[in-house]
Amino acid sequence: MISDKRRVGLIGDPVAHSYSPRFQQAAFDALGIEAHYELWHTPALQLPMRIQSLRNIDCFGANVTIPHKQAVLPLLDHIDPLAARIGAVNTIVHRAGLLWGYNTDAPGLLLALQEHGVGEQHNKATSLKGCTAILLGAGGAARGAVFALAGAGVERLLLVNRHLERAQMLAAQVQQDYAGILLCLDDPSVLAAYPDSIIINATPTGMHDDSSPLPAEVLSRFAPDTFIYDMIYNPAETSLLRQARARGLRAANGLSLLLHQGALSFTLWTGREAPLDVMRTALY
Ligand code: NAP
Repeated sequence: MISDKRRVGLIGDPVAHSYSPRFQQAAFDALGIEAHYELWHTPALQLPMRIQSLRNIDCFGANVTIPHKQAVLPLLDHIDPLAARIGAVNTIVHRAGLLWGYNTDAPGLLLALQEHGVGEQHNKATSLKGCTAILLGAGGAARGAVFALAGAGVERLLLVNRHLERAQMLAAQVQQDYAGILLCLDDPSVLAAYPDSIIINATPTGMHDDSSPLPAEVLSRFAPDTFIYDMIYNPAETSLLRQARARGLRAANGLSLLLHQGALSFTLWTGREAPLDVMRTALY
């Protein structure tokens, strides 16, 4: 018997830890869409075959995570202009045998910041004019973030990464479309505080142990209007978030980013507005 059920899933290595099936499946079920969200563990050698399998008629597409967000680009038929600029795809949509690549991490971050009261809305776009963004990390997650922050018009962008050249390479790419001040550092201890600062942790520091990517003494330089966003969501309260809250700073973990990038992916696959409240309840 042929099933009418559509497939969609997460491509990555590893994927077992992911919270995506939880809230994506809840969204499909809530809208009565016959689909199953699966975990597709895919080592690098199997990536071309996995991408080819998305062309099957029963497949909506996929999410893509570590370490394949850049490697999938040449395997797709069309790349959305934002994903092409960022150089990373986290959402693949199957349309009539062709595969389209998108990046929902970047707009998802702005929606997450908006949910935490950071930035202003103008014509449905988030503006971070006048803000200073301090981004810790220069890997896959930082890529989307840096383009999102630059696009939202931050006045100053500080990229902090232990391998300085990686931050500099990312800065060189974003600089082409960005008129603000852009600085790269490899040592967070020299960070100076600016008003209206947003500090975003896009490193895994704090995920596996109780360490923090910022010395507490550095955090103490920042004013109470500073917002700290840790992309890590498991554990829910990292050392960085604890330090921030102890100093009275506003702070949030990465669940809101996971939610919003996933909701944008859902809409791309289905053409339907994502049931955000259902997804949030399943996730939190
Ligand atoms: P990645 O591509 O491996 O990049 C990791 C970055 O962190 C690199 O810049 C790396 O620096 C830096 N780093 C790694 N270990 C470090 C250490 N011990 N000390 C200082 N810096 C270190 O990883 P990613 O995909 O960007 O993910 C980063 C974090 O974001 C992870 O915790 C991930 O779970 C989280 N994330 C969350 C979401 C969400 O939806 N909330 C989405 C994506 C990612 P070097 O360049 O110097 O090696």
